Amino acid sequence: MTPSMDLEAQYCARNYLPLPVVLTRGKGVFVWDENGKKYLDMMSAYSAVSHGHSHPRLVAVVKEQVEKLSIVSRAFYTDRLGPFLERACKLTGQDVALPMNTGAEAVETAIKAARKWAYTVKGVARDKAEIIACSGNFHGRTMAAVAMSDEPQYQEGFGPFPPGFVIVEYGSIDALEAAINENTAAFIVEPIQGEGGIVLPPKGYLKSAAALCRENNVLLICDEIQTGLGRTGKLLACEHEDVKPDGLILGKALGGGILAVSMFLARRDVMDVFTPGDHGSTFGGNPLAAAVGLEALNIIVEEELALRSAQRGEYMLSKLRAIDSPLIHEVRGRGLFIGVDINPALATARTVCEALMARGLLSKETHATVLRLAPPLVIEEAEIDWAVTQIGAVLAELESVPLAS
Ligand SMILES: *Cc1c(COP(=O)(O)O)cnc(C)c1O
Repeated sequence: MTPSMDLEAQYCARNYLPLPVVLTRGKGVFVWDENGKKYLDMMSAYSAVSHGHSHPRLVAVVKEQVEKLSIVSRAFYTDRLGPFLERACKLTGQDVALPMNTGAEAVETAIKAARKWAYTVKGVARDKAEIIACSGNFHGRTMAAVAMSDEPQYQEGFGPFPPGFVIVEYGSIDALEAAINENTAAFIVEPIQGEGGIVLPPKGYLKSAAALCRENNVLLICDEIQTGLGRTGKLLACEHEDVKPDGLILGKALGGGILAVSMFLARRDVMDVFTPGDHGSTFGGNPLAAAVGLEALNIIVEEELALRSAQRGEYMLSKLRAIDSPLIHEVRGRGLFIGVDINPALATARTVCEALMARGLLSKETHATVLRLAPPLVIEEAEIDWAVTQIGAVLAELESVPLAS
């Protein structure tokens, strides 16, 4: 433990278990610790740093905007918000957007929109609206997001939870069909589950779900906070199945790895359920966030980050699949959104992460068994080669180490 770790351990709540490294600087795909040791960042803050650390264009925009105007609240118009939301809507094919800050807030916004739409448009009886979510989902840590979760640790000790959520098996169209009734407002789904362990549903799942929702007048809401903005090799993961959802949630990389910027986007008739005073956020849509968010979107398009993710992700997946190790149960992913499922009888994903850290590669396990590999989308092939070599070496080392129990 270094003094920085001690201080954080003493004064910060213990709601995380960080790897023992103190980071002080970042540039592109690399970060440095307080001793000057360099690491390849294969975690990118849960995909928030898709642009790489301190992207020069984003740093320039922050400096320029912070000198001019940062926060005024939405009690006033600004010259920054319109251009940002216009770009986001045009890129995603949505009509209108509601800006927030963190992902969980945008999820809350989507739920509120869906419920009010159910009452005022669909005609569901008061307080009867249901939202269907999936097993293994992750939609954040607010009470509603936790109420939708089936992960015991996310709920234990935090009840009672808001009602009106139904959980169905992820990937099963039959389960979704059976759960829909006249009170169903929306189906909220991650096109690929991130925190759930980089889980890809069966091919065609999202497309069938979209059709089913349309037939039953149920809103399809895609939570693309993690999968969106190029991460899976397309601008949106829904595009892999040509699906245009009725509501879309973005966050994480929308802030360019610099600020917390999120939004809920939707069709006009869905968003129009909100009237002044219904919902809001002091910081949501502030001019600094809007300037950064617009530049973050421009960079994704101009630097072709989605295409790069598709190509480099394919490359990395094939290299990882070539590693011959009994510790690997499965390698799966799409674009630079990759999970290596570790055989729990032989090692924990945490042990793998610790050994990789010693070699200068940072990542984080998701659940106990999956090594998450989601580097900034600007990563080069040579850096992927180096990373895969380290992963292969660590797995070979751990083969001979008995599992501590
Ligand atoms: C990270 C994440 C969230 C929550 O975002 P926060 O910014 O941490 O509140 C919600 N949904 C998905 C799919 C996520 O990956």
